[in-house]
Amino acid sequence: MRIILLGPPGAGKGTVANQLKATDGSVHISTGDILRNNVKAGTDLGKKAKEYMDKGELVPDQLIMDMMEVRLQEADCAKGFMLDGFPRTIPQADALGKLLEKINIKLDAAINLDIPREVVLDRLTTRRTCNNSACQTIYNVKTNPPKVEGKCDKCGSPVIQRSDETEEAILNRLEVYNKQTAPLIEYYANKGMLKSASKLKLDELVQEVLNKLKN
Ligand code: AMP
Repeated sequence: MRIILLGPPGAGKGTVANQLKATDGSVHISTGDILRNNVKAGTDLGKKAKEYMDKGELVPDQLIMDMMEVRLQEADCAKGFMLDGFPRTIPQADALGKLLEKINIKLDAAINLDIPREVVLDRLTTRRTCNNSACQTIYNVKTNPPKVEGKCDKCGSPVIQRSDETEEAILNRLEVYNKQTAPLIEYYANKGMLKSASKLKLDELVQEVLNKLKN
C-alpha cells in the first residue's frame, strides 16, 4: 500500500503504521523519527532541525523535501510505504505530488485519524518513549508503564519523556497542527483520496483503517 497517515500528534499514526506493515511489508516512514535520529547522530540536518523540534515548530519545508526525495527513492519503498507525519503543510503536499508524479508512483489514500484534542493531549503528556533509536517502544505512565520504572521492557534502554513532549511544546504542536497541517484534510478530500478513522482504542483503530482501505 502507499498511504499518507494524517492526524494530530498522539492520534496513533505510528501505532497504526507499525501494525499495518505486518500486513504487506510496506515500510513505515516517520519524518519525526528520521529527524530525531539525525539529531542524535549530530548530522547537519539534525543540528538545523533541533531548535524547531524542541519548540514544537515545523522544520522548514525545503529541508524536509530534500530528505524525503532521497528516502522515497530507496529500494525498500518499492514494496509500498506509509507516510507518518509527512506531508505536514500544503507546500509539502504539493511537492510530494510532483515528486511522486516524477517517479511514477500513485498514492492509494490519505487516512485521517480523527481523534479529539482532549484525548491526544492526555495521551501526549503521559507518553514515554524508549530512548534506543532502534527500539522506540512507546509507553504510557497511566495505561501502559514499563515493568521496571524508566527501563524499556524490550531492550532495557532508558524510557524517557521526549524533549518536545513537555506540556508547553505539546500545546504548541497542537496549535501548529491546527494551523498548518489540518488544512491537508480538505486538500486530500478535494482530490477524492481521503478516508477517515476515529476509534479511540488503538487496536480498533488499526482494524478500522484496514477496513477503510479495503473499501
Ligand atoms: P512527530 O514525531 O511526527 O510528531 O514529529 C516531531 C517533530 O519533528 C515535529 O514537531 C516537527 O518539529 C518535526 N517534523 C516531523 N515531520 C515534519 C514535517 N513533515 N515537516 C516539518 N517538521 C516535521
